[in-house]
Amino acid sequence: MTLLYSHPVAARHETPSGHPEQAARHRAVLDALADMDLDRRVARMGAEADVLRCHPARHLDRLRGALPDRGTAALDADTHLSPDSLDAALHAVGGACATVDAVLGGQDDSAFVAMRPPGHHAERETPMGFCLLGTAAIAAMRALDHHGLDRVAVVDFDVHHGNGTQDLLWDEGRAFFASTHQMPLYPGTGAAGERGAHDQMMNVPLRPGSGGAEARTAWTAIAARLREWRPGLVVVSAGFDAHRDDPLAELDWDDADFAAVTALIRDAARDAGAPVVSVLEGGYDLAALGRSARLHVQTLKEPAR
Ligand SMILES: [Zn+2]
Repeated sequence: MTLLYSHPVAARHETPSGHPEQAARHRAVLDALADMDLDRRVARMGAEADVLRCHPARHLDRLRGALPDRGTAALDADTHLSPDSLDAALHAVGGACATVDAVLGGQDDSAFVAMRPPGHHAERETPMGFCLLGTAAIAAMRALDHHGLDRVAVVDFDVHHGNGTQDLLWDEGRAFFASTHQMPLYPGTGAAGERGAHDQMMNVPLRPGSGGAEARTAWTAIAARLREWRPGLVVVSAGFDAHRDDPLAELDWDDADFAAVTALIRDAARDAGAPVVSVLEGGYDLAALGRSARLHVQTLKEPAR
């Protein structure tokens, strides 16, 4: 049926007026999924033990210490905190971890976590790019260390490189990581030569202006690696900012391209017998975000052929 995890605190992480990573994104995604037949669940607060698999305690201390009493406080030019921001980020982590528990417990074979702030740029000790905690990597590490899986995969189709996920999993030989992203673009990492400490990472940079054909080629190759990897769980960093309408990047994906990429990931995961946990990352045109996220969840939900 597909699980949907969310929590209202996601809309209480505030950014300065005009910031693209705005609370309205959360509403846009939930509205787009409103009439779908999904098993809706409330995300729980993330456990510190889950965060500490990827970030040191001083990272959490630094975030907690930087929370403003009101308004917003800047961590860098892009990344801001409001009073409820850490609470929101921890519920994104908690939602993702609850989702991992649910799918590995056999409750469903796919799930979407509709939370913000996003997570894939957050490095071990560096919040950046709108991100505070590495949600996707934390979810993957819970599957390995709490559930005892031998191998997991994290795949990232956000238009920006998942430098944080790459940083957090660089030395983790049990975690395959693959990303497509526009290059050149923020944050500047993700060259094809970046392969992880165990040759377990696959970065596929895409040229500005490239569209659905290049996306399908890249994700067909990633899906082949995914099948070889035989993961017990696939975590998706689902960013929808490669859409042609997105204001932050110059790729030319349309709504159907997100469905096609999702289907390639889904079919590879099914061949491996792996459930899919998808977490929301970017996507800054509210209409395109809603439509693309809906197609993504619909595609995950389609019954096996
Ligand atoms: Zn992005």
